[in-house]
Amino acid sequence: MPRAVRLSQMERKAIEVIRKAGEKGILQSELWKILGTDSREGSRIAIRLEKKGLINREPAVYAGKRTFKLTLIKREGRKVSIENVKGCPCFTCPNLTRCGEGQNITPIKCEKLTDWIMKNIMERGK
Ligand code: SF4
Repeated sequence: MPRAVRLSQMERKAIEVIRKAGEKGILQSELWKILGTDSREGSRIAIRLEKKGLINREPAVYAGKRTFKLTLIKREGRKVSIENVKGCPCFTCPNLTRCGEGQNITPIKCEKLTDWIMKNIMERGK
């Protein structure tokens, strides 16, 4: 389960501004003006958001001055797909109703299931 990230009110506002900027991003030197703060605080906010893994902060030059371009890191929700369990031996196993944790027949000791999992791991690693 992903860990919850705590954000201050100013960090939330910054995230909203960066999100609205979309893929082109926003310069750090613009962000602090929009937030109504100063350069130093704007920089701290951006650094904190970067450390929290929420934004990318790439060096940039604007009007001859060094700054950073900020873009939101997109997170895809975990997609559940039937493709991920296709071919699982349990679906066609005659022991399915007798198989379980603490039973004589158990997924923990099942070679068919272990082989299928290992094969999938190997194929996804390609
Ligand atoms: S874990 Fe093995 S024994 Fe249990 S249902 Fe799946 S294939 Fe059958």
